[in-house]
Amino acid sequence: MEKVRDWKVLPPREAKVVPFPSTIDPRLAAILKTKGIPSLYSHQATTLERIAEGRNVVVVTPTSSGKTLCYNLPVLNDLLSRPDSRSLFLFPTKALSADQVDELHGLVTALEADIKTFTFDGDTPADARRSIRAAGHIVVTNPDMLHSGILPHHTRWTRLFENLRYVVLDELHHYRGVFGSHLANVIRRLKRICRFYGSSPQFICCSATIANPGELASRLLEEPVEVIDQNGAPSGEKHFILYNPPVVNKELGIRRSVLKETRDVTDRFLSRGCPSIVFARSRLTVEVLVTYLRESMRRRHKSQDLIRGYRGGYLPTERRGIEQALRDGRVMGVVSTNALELGIDIGSLEVAVMAGYPGTVASAWQQAGRAGRRQGSSVAILVASSTPLDQYMVDHPDYFFGRSPEGATLNPDNLVILISHVKCAAYELPFEDGEAFGDCHEDFSQILQFLEEHRVLRHVGDRWHWMTDVYPAGDVSLRSASTDNVVIHDTVNDRVIGEVDWGSAPEIVHDDAIYLHESRQYQIEKFDLEGKRALAHPVEVDYYTDAEVKTDIKVLDVFQEEERDGGSRAHGEVAVTTIPTIYKKIRFHTHENVGWGQIHLPEQEIQTTSFWFSYGVDHHQTLGVSLEQMGLGLKALANILRHVVPLFVMGERHDIRSVAMVQSPFTRRSTVYIYDNHPGGVGFSEKIYDGCRTIFRAAADIVTRCPCQDGCPSCVGPSLEVGEQGKITALNLLERALDASGLPTLQPPGSPPKLPASAAEVSPST
Ligand SMILES: [Zn+2]
Repeated sequence: MEKVRDWKVLPPREAKVVPFPSTIDPRLAAILKTKGIPSLYSHQATTLERIAEGRNVVVVTPTSSGKTLCYNLPVLNDLLSRPDSRSLFLFPTKALSADQVDELHGLVTALEADIKTFTFDGDTPADARRSIRAAGHIVVTNPDMLHSGILPHHTRWTRLFENLRYVVLDELHHYRGVFGSHLANVIRRLKRICRFYGSSPQFICCSATIANPGELASRLLEEPVEVIDQNGAPSGEKHFILYNPPVVNKELGIRRSVLKETRDVTDRFLSRGCPSIVFARSRLTVEVLVTYLRESMRRRHKSQDLIRGYRGGYLPTERRGIEQALRDGRVMGVVSTNALELGIDIGSLEVAVMAGYPGTVASAWQQAGRAGRRQGSSVAILVASSTPLDQYMVDHPDYFFGRSPEGATLNPDNLVILISHVKCAAYELPFEDGEAFGDCHEDFSQILQFLEEHRVLRHVGDRWHWMTDVYPAGDVSLRSASTDNVVIHDTVNDRVIGEVDWGSAPEIVHDDAIYLHESRQYQIEKFDLEGKRALAHPVEVDYYTDAEVKTDIKVLDVFQEEERDGGSRAHGEVAVTTIPTIYKKIRFHTHENVGWGQIHLPEQEIQTTSFWFSYGVDHHQTLGVSLEQMGLGLKALANILRHVVPLFVMGERHDIRSVAMVQSPFTRRSTVYIYDNHPGGVGFSEKIYDGCRTIFRAAADIVTRCPCQDGCPSCVGPSLEVGEQGKITALNLLERALDASGLPTLQPPGSPPKLPASAAEVSPST
């Protein structure tokens, strides 16, 4: 119990049900009744009403609250009365769409109606594609396929586009950052094609709980969207436990291994016969935990086949088999990556254990939701790792259980992304003079002219025509902001093992780097800049490499700025140049530095957006530290902020970078820059500017509570990097920033747990 930081019991909830409305076809209602659905939950009924009124909706209710029916029902109901009607279902991942199609098939087969449901993705055989285009009533696909396989070939999909009634977007919260900025443009293209064929589809979206589902949906669709978040589904009693492994090395801030703690916790439940799911952060940790749990099974003289792993990289048939075995109860425990967090049907488990915080509160709730029954108790346990985010989570149950603080963000007008899609759109249909592209705020005619100057478009009469024979969608990946990738080639087995985006390549695939792929290690022999490829061979070593990068940042334009007494905040456009200098060899587990080497690569520049915070010129004197000390303190501050920011902007680690400058040439003051690592920016900087008080407060909190002496990887970085005074200087700087923003206190609302004694010692307030 010493390790339990919080234990919440969420009481059981009664269902709120309403009878099927008269608008539902009696055949459909009858089938649902035979499937054990005698009535609708209130949120399902509300969704139907809003859709009937012609509105777009986003349904925001927890896992296993019957979200799928919110779109299957209106779509099938419409098809029963209008057999020509068509619908398009978009899922962010393939595994998820396969599962939802099964469910839809079940309903359609029982209805004995002539409704054809097809999945159209990269695996669809060529001969099946024609019949899908002609006869598929419901086409299930993903955004990537819509972008590169359907929209460019719209002339073959006339039946679909002429009659497109509904577009379903499930797991909407996935469409944020780069992916969201792309999808918003794909939707602009989709609506443009629909207008051409005379249809105007309605959008039905579903999302996990985030702070701004309505805002996210209306920015993606550029139309008003109604939020439906009053859940009417029942649920059993649920225990949610935040669990923090004990500190084993105070200096380095290292806690007992999250994997071993996860094994122990899960073992307790398994030994008592409770079906359990474990979520691990990586493919590698999935395999390690499967091994551990199987060992325990054997020790108890049980079959080791009761434990299975589940992750990307397993064959589809293998995965279907595991899902079925879970539903039948033939498997007692499964260890999975987030692949199983989505709505794949695996029956109801009693226990969900998370080996580390999955990165967003939305994901954590989805993972916790895999253990959960309509009746009876279930348990979800979050086992924290030593990282700053994990430690913040277990120390802030209010953050976790309160109203979601996570806001998804996107920027459809990111010029790099926008121009890619304008090209695709021009290929699909010529632009007419004066035509708009969605709600694009950029000067659109200027973009068209720019493309004409680059001999991509030609202005003839009042139209802009595509004029090259290159097919533009093929070069645009929805998952990356830049259009260039570096291919990693295994020279021993002569095959491509992966890709990295151009921007990250110098750090990841420089000569002699250790590249990890599916828990295998490769050493990079040569990074071929011109050929955009890296040659590698498999190795087995006990270290990984970490590149040091020298970064310079120049402000090009200030969008917003606020000056306060002791500091100022701003965001704007910047040019960032980076050059990798050296790499360190870091030993696994102990994180010792076991060597280093030089990197010889040219510098790179990106233009992007950044947030920055500056301190007065003489602030180091106010703090009573040397200029050098101030520099180290700023570095420590930049480290912790970079870790904390993704918490509030729903970003990934590689989305955000930070730089500290003891005297920035632009502000002429001590400045910390936190910039968006995607060319053109995808909206993070403005979000940081707006939420900077909350972000600084969270950072101060992590540093204060961290039990380390003078800095560790769980807070501001190791003292080797930030100096012995780095931690306290960073804290002082954070306090100053919070004063500057007029914040009276560092403590978040609610009653925080007691500070560990050692943390109180380093807190400047004591
Ligand atoms: Zn620390």
